[in-house]
Amino acid sequence: MTQQQQAPEGTRPRRPRGVPRKISVVAVKQLSPRMRRVTFGGSDLASFTWTGPAAHIKIIFPEPGRGLDTVAVPGPDDPRPTTTRTYTPRRFDPATQTLEVDFALHGPGPAATWAEQARVGQQVVQMGPAQGYEVDTEAPWYVILGDDAALPAIETILEALPAGTKTTVLLEVVAADEARPLAGPAQTDVRWLVRGAGAAPGSALLQGLEGFAWPAGAGRVYVGCEATALRQLRTTILAASGLDKERVIARGYWRVGAVNHPDHDYAKD
Ligand SMILES: Cc1cc2nc3c(=O)[nH]c(=O)nc-3n(C[C@H](O)[C@H](O)[C@H](O)COP(=O)(O)OP(=O)(O)OC[C@H]3O[C@@H](n4cnc5c(N)ncnc54)[C@H](O)[C@@H]3O)c2cc1C
Repeated sequence: MTQQQQAPEGTRPRRPRGVPRKISVVAVKQLSPRMRRVTFGGSDLASFTWTGPAAHIKIIFPEPGRGLDTVAVPGPDDPRPTTTRTYTPRRFDPATQTLEVDFALHGPGPAATWAEQARVGQQVVQMGPAQGYEVDTEAPWYVILGDDAALPAIETILEALPAGTKTTVLLEVVAADEARPLAGPAQTDVRWLVRGAGAAPGSALLQGLEGFAWPAGAGRVYVGCEATALRQLRTTILAASGLDKERVIARGYWRVGAVNHPDHDYAKD
């Protein structure tokens, strides 16, 4: 089964757990007011392998109130700690064995709270990655949409696209000061859409699609954002673009009011 397909709840076989690695913060960089890059290192990363763009890893964060410097490595049969969250490997450098993860500072939550205070030397536990997204190198065009949680994945896709792919990126952010230069194919049109505090997640993406001039031909769409908005976006995109549904990958990255949204939400329900 590829990552684009989703088995119904209850029938999905339990996936083998990745080997837990204890990794340490080696650098912290503020990319924008609400996005922070943490670079991790450590000898455990010798076994890390890059599995392509928009892959995901698991990180176990310290439990609130238990000290933020380190976490215990769970045994193979231990239940997954409640502070385990899903993140995108933004970049892995096998030469230095360093792993970058970009954290949206969205407010309270074990992961975002930890990222806000992250300091060199602190330790977390990491597992994975799972298989990433297979970029269609033959597609004449890509339209990519997402919010801050999906932005690291979107950046890995942009970096994997061939130089000639005509690409449009619609990014929803809370405020205009989140905009920053992104790498991508030569013909990449990046549109930063400001949602504004208090507006519903996904509302700026939906607005951005109003009157959108869909290119002709069999392109591809990748959309990643808040899970409820995602479903409406997917329906809108399928109707307006005329694309077969296999050409539109929709992935829920978080859900309003939900802790630790599942990593396998492809908006198929
Ligand atoms: C495959 C995949 C890859 C992901 N990659 C990244 C990544 O690289 N970078 C990244 O920042 N996030 C990423 N996410 C999203 C991240 O897993 C969630 O945002 C997660 O809930 C954060 O955990 P937390 O402990 O901070 O908050 P939680 O304890 O899970 O949630 C606490 C509260 O915060 C709200 N919340 C959670 N996320 C957001 C958000 N982004 N904006 C506003 N409110 C939110 C929840 O609705 C809840 O009410 C990814 C998710 C998936 C499924």
